[in-house]
Amino acid sequence: MSHWSAEMVVHRRKTRKLRVGQVEVGGDSLISVQSMTKTDTEDVAATLRQIHRLHNAGCEIVRVAVPTLSAVKAFEKIVTSSPIPVEADTHFSTGIALAAVEAGAHSVRINPGNTRNRKGLKEVAVCARERGIPIRVGVNSGSVGGFRGDLARALARTALDCAQLLERAGLREIMISVKASDVAETVRAYRIVASSCDYPLHLGVTATGAGTTGLVKSAIGIGSLLLDGIGDTIRVSLTGDPVREVEAGREILRSLNLRSFGPEIISCPTCGRCEVDLLKVVTRVQKELRGFTHNVKVAVMGCIVNGPGEAKEADIGVAFGRGVAYIFRGGRKLRKVSPDSAVSELLKEIPKPRRSSPREPLSFIRGKE
Ligand code: SF4
Repeated sequence: MSHWSAEMVVHRRKTRKLRVGQVEVGGDSLISVQSMTKTDTEDVAATLRQIHRLHNAGCEIVRVAVPTLSAVKAFEKIVTSSPIPVEADTHFSTGIALAAVEAGAHSVRINPGNTRNRKGLKEVAVCARERGIPIRVGVNSGSVGGFRGDLARALARTALDCAQLLERAGLREIMISVKASDVAETVRAYRIVASSCDYPLHLGVTATGAGTTGLVKSAIGIGSLLLDGIGDTIRVSLTGDPVREVEAGREILRSLNLRSFGPEIISCPTCGRCEVDLLKVVTRVQKELRGFTHNVKVAVMGCIVNGPGEAKEADIGVAFGRGVAYIFRGGRKLRKVSPDSAVSELLKEIPKPRRSSPREPLSFIRGKE
């Protein structure tokens, strides 16, 4: 495998390592993918169903809103039954944050933009330290006030001041996020924080929108920072099904060669030289490879003239000619097959241990990288 690797050029920022439940964040640990439930927290069954869907999609940490003290009871049940670590999302009230920590949260997010009770914040820090859990200082552009002009600096300063207060209360396990809905401001805010401390950073762009708009904003913001070596855990925020957030998060990490999640399919955009209904072939290959665990790069190319050359970084591939297909490896033809048997011939070249349970992908990934 001769892939260009981000690890060869990205020097990851040195951060202190901490744990959110069984997931390590920071230091040399893998960059984790997280998401947030969108159900009513007090509907425990619906929230747990969504957490299981997220877990099956590859989510490693899930955040759950704890909007009121009365939601803490439901939150406690969710934490007890969740297959992945749960971060309590709290705003405004240190009383709720404290109750969430006591209810067993694996991490708690506080927003110093709207939670200014310093005595209360210190109490949360002391309680988190006693329970051995981290606090995420999560600032976003909607909640910082009293700044003149420079949003990125205001976000960074608000987060760093709060982190300092928590650290003075004896807590070392601190993560920071500084999200704006503007991509450039978000990137700038994270760069300021990154140059000022060694806390692990949770990356994200907030309120990005739905569909393509949200995906593009998140990919640019999170991707730019990751290429700078900044970022220890990521959350793509999208309006809609949170499973899409996890899929997008994993794709961002995979695109930068920072994580591997089983087979990766690359395919050409097609052009006037294309000899086949390529989308149909790609869809079939995707379906057939579902459940495969090997980190193999598979190319599906529309013509034999340029296909193998354009996909020479692929481990294995197929390219189509008129009434013929070629299986190739590393840009060189292996054999000629009929277009109808092309997909099955391609699959013969890929080792196939299959996942036996939805929990397996995480351990596979962790063991493999
Ligand atoms: Fe066009 Fe062939 Fe390139 Fe696909 S591989 S885009 S069909 S030239």
